Amino acid sequence: MNTSPSQLIFEQSVPGRRGCTLPKLTPAEAACALRIPNKYLATKPPELPEVSELDVVRHFTNLSRKNFSVDTHFYPLGSCTMKYNPKICEKIAALDGFAGLHPLLPQLRGGGMLTQGALEVLYETERLLAEICGMDAMSLQPMAGAHGELTGIMLIAAYHRDRGNRKTKVIVPDSSHGTNPASAALAGYEVVTVPSGPDGCMDMAAFEAALDDQVAAIMMTCPNTLGLFERQIHRIAELAHAKDALLYYDGANLNALLGQCHPGDLGFDVVHINLHKTFATPHGGGGPGAGPVGVKAALIPFLPISVVVKRDDGTYALEYTREKSIGYIAPFYGNFGVILKAYAYLLLLGRDGLQAVSENAVLAANYIKEKLKPHFDLPFDHTCMHECVFDAGRQAARGVHAIDIAKALIDRGFHPPTVYFPLVVHEAIMIEPTETESKEDLDRFIAAMIEIVEQAKANPAAFAALPVTMPVTRLDETKAEKNMKFRV
Ligand SMILES: *Cc1c(COP(=O)(O)O)cnc(C)c1O
Repeated sequence: MNTSPSQLIFEQSVPGRRGCTLPKLTPAEAACALRIPNKYLATKPPELPEVSELDVVRHFTNLSRKNFSVDTHFYPLGSCTMKYNPKICEKIAALDGFAGLHPLLPQLRGGGMLTQGALEVLYETERLLAEICGMDAMSLQPMAGAHGELTGIMLIAAYHRDRGNRKTKVIVPDSSHGTNPASAALAGYEVVTVPSGPDGCMDMAAFEAALDDQVAAIMMTCPNTLGLFERQIHRIAELAHAKDALLYYDGANLNALLGQCHPGDLGFDVVHINLHKTFATPHGGGGPGAGPVGVKAALIPFLPISVVVKRDDGTYALEYTREKSIGYIAPFYGNFGVILKAYAYLLLLGRDGLQAVSENAVLAANYIKEKLKPHFDLPFDHTCMHECVFDAGRQAARGVHAIDIAKALIDRGFHPPTVYFPLVVHEAIMIEPTETESKEDLDRFIAAMIEIVEQAKANPAAFAALPVTMPVTRLDETKAEKNMKFRV
């Protein structure tokens, strides 16, 4: 049988071929089945491929070998933190005592003995993350970064409503992450965009002009999407607070600042972070994730329910009655497995280890920036944080665009960096090496990039056919989005 991986498993189907057979029903089971009302019975058999066990094994093994992952390749996808995460965190998350818990088990009495450990994990993780963020309390419930943003903005809206403030706008700098304006708009605010200045930070004059009494919050991505630290942050906080506007910290990329400073000390009132970037879960792959939200004391009454509390007798419980809470934003208590991995990671690394994360992430990004600077345009030439953003304008002038460089990297065994983001850089190539790559691997990547630059000078026309090592080359991305069932 042809097990070419480019065939769908349905196309390998041969009528009557079987990989496994189910045992015949016992008379008791058959009698039971007869009692199922007709309306619940399927009218035709399920459309499953008819294949042998070997067909299935080959098909999925071959497919899995096409996976591009951190476990197989360097993956410098800017803004996504595709770093290597210790396997022990996965192992801990899979322990029976955690993975087998049912979310409806009682908190105390009976099954309560089973849930106390899980509640303790939630409580302790909240406390550790609150300390790292410099916040007074944390909610682990949001299930993604953007979900954390929406939760955070809902908290801000609840705060203003409670004070009788009539605020209608949220300021978002143009170098912030694209989800920020979307979250503010979804929460019902008018989004006011403020441009970046020539240094890549928010243009202060434009900010001051936009900051009026109607502004509920300023959402800052820090470091911003150019990988730069917002230098005027104290001034921004001062101006915002003078208007009773709150400062929101998009800390999805906390591996840039981890253990170096507390965002709360910089003047931020609300933060979200991405556990599925910085804390032991990868961002790519479509989830699950967790986007915990931290707040200063004034916003604690509005936190989503449920809230984990520690009682005087040392037991833990979930509280559901909070008069001013914004209510439920996720079922049960968010993505517990992701939170548990983060907890394991925090304990594994400890204070020194977490500090080393950001030091190495920033060092690796600056190393790449310096080594590639002679070869690419660098629109904002400052010390960067955890990622650096080049502009392939020089190469594009010869017909080799950022997307072509990305495709050329695939042939050399590297996942491409993020391209065409952030939008403020035209031919953006955003490289996030992360803290887990060795110098040898960084050097191999740098050498590949330089080789591609040389090839772009010598033979730009060759790039149109790249990649040549993959079963699919250039996709019609619009068609792929709209018609998922396409043949490769
Ligand atoms: C990744 C990211 C987000 C969004 O996180 P999701 O979990 O993908 O919703 C928000 N802000 C920044 C700065 C990010 O890098």
